[in-house]
Amino acid sequence: MAGSALPPVGVFALQGDVREHVAVLRELGADVREVRTPDQLADVGGLVIPGGESSVMDKLSRLFGLREPLRARIAAGMPVYGTCAGMIMLSDRVLDAIDGQLTLGGLDVTVRRNAFGNQLDSFETDLSIPALGDPPVHAVFIRAPVVVDAGADVVVLSALDDGRIVAVEQGRLLATAFHPEVAGETRFHERFLAHVAAAENAAS
Ligand code: GLN
Repeated sequence: MAGSALPPVGVFALQGDVREHVAVLRELGADVREVRTPDQLADVGGLVIPGGESSVMDKLSRLFGLREPLRARIAAGMPVYGTCAGMIMLSDRVLDAIDGQLTLGGLDVTVRRNAFGNQLDSFETDLSIPALGDPPVHAVFIRAPVVVDAGADVVVLSALDDGRIVAVEQGRLLATAFHPEVAGETRFHERFLAHVAAAENAAS
Protein backbone atom coordinates (compact mmCIF):
# COMPACT_ATOMS: atom_id res chain seq x y z
CA MET A 1 0.00 0.00 0.00
CA ALA A 2 2.95 2.31 0.55
CA GLY A 3 3.59 3.61 -2.93
CA SER A 4 6.61 5.59 -4.07
CA ALA A 5 4.58 8.81 -3.71
CA LEU A 6 4.84 8.53 0.07
CA PRO A 7 7.35 10.83 1.73
CA PRO A 8 10.01 9.20 3.91
CA VAL A 9 8.75 8.19 7.34
CA GLY A 10 10.74 8.28 10.55
CA VAL A 11 11.18 6.17 13.64
CA PHE A 12 12.10 8.10 16.79
CA ALA A 13 15.46 6.48 17.48
CA LEU A 14 16.86 7.95 20.69
CA GLN A 15 15.55 4.99 22.70
CA GLY A 16 13.29 1.97 22.36
CA ASP A 17 12.61 -0.94 20.00
CA VAL A 18 13.55 1.04 16.92
CA ARG A 19 14.71 -1.84 14.72
CA GLU A 20 11.43 -3.72 14.92
CA HIS A 21 9.44 -0.71 13.70
CA VAL A 22 11.94 0.04 10.94
CA ALA A 23 11.60 -3.57 9.77
CA VAL A 24 7.79 -3.52 9.67
CA LEU A 25 7.68 -0.19 7.82
CA ARG A 26 10.32 -1.36 5.28
CA GLU A 27 8.37 -4.57 4.73
CA LEU A 28 5.39 -2.36 3.86
CA GLY A 29 7.49 -0.57 1.25
CA ALA A 30 8.15 2.70 3.07
CA ASP A 31 11.36 4.74 2.87
CA VAL A 32 12.28 4.67 6.56
CA ARG A 33 14.70 6.97 8.39
CA GLU A 34 15.89 6.87 11.99
CA VAL A 35 15.21 10.23 13.63
CA ARG A 36 17.57 11.56 16.30
CA THR A 37 17.98 15.22 15.32
CA PRO A 38 15.73 18.13 14.30
CA ASP A 39 17.19 17.97 10.76
CA GLN A 40 16.26 14.32 10.44
CA LEU A 41 12.77 15.10 11.73
CA ALA A 42 12.35 17.79 9.09
CA ASP A 43 12.91 15.17 6.34
CA VAL A 44 10.04 12.85 7.30
CA GLY A 45 6.32 13.04 6.66
CA GLY A 46 5.33 10.96 9.68
CA LEU A 47 6.88 9.41 12.75
CA VAL A 48 6.62 6.21 14.77
CA ILE A 49 7.53 6.48 18.44
CA PRO A 50 8.48 2.99 19.61
CA GLY A 51 8.09 1.13 22.87
CA GLY A 52 10.80 1.56 25.45
CA GLU A 53 10.94 3.83 28.47
CA SER A 54 9.00 7.06 28.21
CA SER A 55 10.91 8.91 30.95
CA VAL A 56 14.19 8.24 29.12
CA MET A 57 12.66 9.22 25.78
CA ASP A 58 11.54 12.47 27.39
CA LYS A 59 14.99 13.24 28.82
CA LEU A 60 16.82 12.39 25.60
CA SER A 61 14.43 14.31 23.38
CA ARG A 62 15.08 17.41 25.48
CA LEU A 63 18.84 16.79 25.47
CA PHE A 64 18.94 16.32 21.68
CA GLY A 65 16.77 19.39 21.01
CA LEU A 66 14.00 17.25 19.54
CA ARG A 67 11.23 18.06 21.99
CA GLU A 68 10.16 21.45 20.66
CA PRO A 69 10.44 20.57 16.94
CA LEU A 70 8.45 17.41 17.63
CA ARG A 71 5.74 19.33 19.46
CA ALA A 72 5.56 21.82 16.60
CA ARG A 73 5.23 19.06 13.98
CA ILE A 74 2.54 17.27 16.00
CA ALA A 75 0.64 20.57 16.39
CA ALA A 76 0.94 21.08 12.61
CA GLY A 77 -0.73 17.72 11.93
CA MET A 78 2.15 15.32 11.29
CA PRO A 79 0.91 11.72 11.49
CA VAL A 80 2.41 9.87 14.44
CA TYR A 81 1.98 6.31 15.65
CA GLY A 82 3.05 5.61 19.24
CA THR A 83 3.34 2.13 20.76
CA CYS A 84 3.47 1.69 24.54
CA ALA A 85 6.08 4.25 25.69
CA GLY A 86 5.27 6.03 22.42
CA MET A 87 1.61 6.16 23.47
CA ILE A 88 2.69 7.75 26.74
CA MET A 89 4.76 10.33 24.84
CA LEU A 90 1.72 11.29 22.75
CA SER A 91 -0.64 11.65 25.70
CA ASP A 92 -1.59 15.05 27.08
CA ARG A 93 -1.71 13.73 30.66
CA VAL A 94 0.16 10.92 32.41
CA LEU A 95 -0.36 9.27 35.80
CA ASP A 96 2.47 7.55 37.69
CA ALA A 97 5.10 9.49 35.78
CA ILE A 98 8.50 9.97 37.38
CA ASP A 99 9.26 13.37 38.90
CA GLY A 100 9.50 16.04 36.24
CA GLN A 101 8.57 13.71 33.37
CA LEU A 102 7.03 15.51 30.41
CA THR A 103 5.18 14.13 27.44
CA LEU A 104 4.99 15.59 23.95
CA GLY A 105 1.20 15.54 24.03
CA GLY A 106 -1.26 15.81 21.17
CA LEU A 107 -3.70 13.09 22.18
CA ASP A 108 -6.43 14.30 24.50
CA VAL A 109 -6.08 11.32 26.84
CA THR A 110 -4.84 10.50 30.31
CA VAL A 111 -2.67 7.38 30.49
CA ARG A 112 -1.47 5.46 33.50
CA ARG A 113 2.06 4.12 33.16
CA ASN A 114 2.77 0.50 34.08
CA ALA A 115 -0.94 0.02 34.57
CA PHE A 116 -0.84 -3.75 34.95
CA GLY A 117 1.47 -3.69 37.96
CA ASN A 118 4.30 -6.03 38.80
CA GLN A 119 2.23 -9.18 39.00
CA LEU A 120 1.25 -8.99 35.37
CA ASP A 121 4.19 -7.22 33.84
CA SER A 122 3.78 -8.77 30.41
CA PHE A 123 1.01 -10.70 28.75
CA GLU A 124 -0.43 -11.47 25.35
CA THR A 125 -4.02 -11.54 24.24
CA ASP A 126 -6.11 -11.43 21.09
CA LEU A 127 -8.11 -8.26 20.55
CA SER A 128 -10.95 -7.84 18.15
CA ILE A 129 -10.53 -4.40 16.60
CA PRO A 130 -13.45 -3.57 14.30
CA ALA A 131 -11.57 -0.73 12.56
CA LEU A 132 -8.95 -3.26 11.38
CA GLY A 133 -11.34 -6.08 10.49
CA ASP A 134 -10.48 -9.79 10.75
CA PRO A 135 -8.51 -11.56 12.11
CA PRO A 136 -8.16 -10.31 15.72
CA VAL A 137 -4.93 -8.54 16.63
CA HIS A 138 -2.43 -10.55 18.62
CA ALA A 139 -1.43 -7.95 21.20
CA VAL A 140 1.76 -8.15 23.25
CA PHE A 141 1.70 -6.00 26.39
CA ILE A 142 5.03 -5.22 28.08
CA ARG A 143 4.86 -3.01 31.20
CA ALA A 144 2.10 -1.31 29.32
CA PRO A 145 0.07 1.81 29.99
CA VAL A 146 -3.71 2.08 29.64
CA VAL A 147 -5.84 5.04 28.71
CA VAL A 148 -7.91 5.97 31.76
CA ASP A 149 -9.67 8.95 30.28
CA ALA A 150 -10.26 10.06 26.70
CA GLY A 151 -11.61 13.38 25.40
CA ALA A 152 -14.57 13.73 23.05
CA ASP A 153 -12.41 13.84 19.89
CA VAL A 154 -10.63 10.59 20.68
CA VAL A 155 -11.79 7.45 18.87
CA VAL A 156 -11.40 4.31 20.95
CA LEU A 157 -10.17 1.54 18.64
CA SER A 158 -9.87 -1.17 21.25
CA ALA A 159 -10.48 -1.95 24.90
CA LEU A 160 -9.82 -5.02 27.02
CA ASP A 161 -12.73 -7.13 28.30
CA ASP A 162 -12.67 -5.12 31.53
CA GLY A 163 -13.17 -1.91 29.56
CA ARG A 164 -9.65 -0.53 29.83
CA ILE A 165 -8.75 1.34 26.65
CA VAL A 166 -5.63 0.12 24.82
CA ALA A 167 -5.79 1.63 21.30
CA VAL A 168 -6.91 5.12 20.29
CA GLU A 169 -6.88 7.49 17.37
CA GLN A 170 -7.38 11.25 17.22
CA GLY A 171 -7.04 12.79 13.80
CA ARG A 172 -3.69 11.56 12.46
CA LEU A 173 -2.39 10.44 15.84
CA LEU A 174 -2.60 6.71 16.49
CA ALA A 175 -1.52 4.96 19.68
CA THR A 176 -1.52 1.45 21.08
CA ALA A 177 -0.61 0.31 24.58
CA PHE A 178 0.70 -2.94 23.08
CA HIS A 179 3.40 -3.89 20.57
CA PRO A 180 2.18 -5.04 17.14
CA GLU A 181 5.73 -4.80 15.81
CA VAL A 182 6.88 -7.83 17.81
CA ALA A 183 3.93 -10.00 16.78
CA GLY A 184 4.06 -9.84 12.98
CA GLU A 185 1.04 -7.53 12.99
CA THR A 186 1.25 -4.86 10.29
CA ARG A 187 -2.22 -3.30 10.19
CA PHE A 188 -1.47 -0.44 12.58
CA HIS A 189 1.61 0.51 10.56
CA GLU A 190 -0.48 0.33 7.37
CA ARG A 191 -3.00 2.64 9.00
CA PHE A 192 -0.19 5.01 10.00
CA LEU A 193 1.12 5.01 6.40
CA ALA A 194 -2.39 5.77 5.16
CA HIS A 195 -2.42 8.81 7.47
CA VAL A 196 0.95 9.85 6.02
CA ALA A 197 -0.41 9.54 2.48
CA ALA A 198 -3.53 11.53 3.39
CA ALA A 199 -1.47 14.29 5.02
CA GLU A 200 0.78 14.43 1.94
CA ASN A 201 -2.24 14.70 -0.40
CA ALA A 202 -3.79 17.41 1.75
CA ALA A 203 -0.53 19.41 1.58
CA SER A 204 -0.06 19.18 -2.20
N1 GLN B 1 6.70 1.20 31.11
C1 GLN B 1 7.28 1.93 30.02
C2 GLN B 1 7.15 3.43 30.21
O1 GLN B 1 6.65 3.88 31.14
C3 GLN B 1 6.64 1.53 28.71
C4 GLN B 1 6.95 0.09 28.38
C5 GLN B 1 7.00 -0.21 26.93
O2 GLN B 1 7.12 0.69 26.06
N2 GLN B 1 7.00 -1.48 26.60
O3 GLN B 1 7.60 4.16 29.36
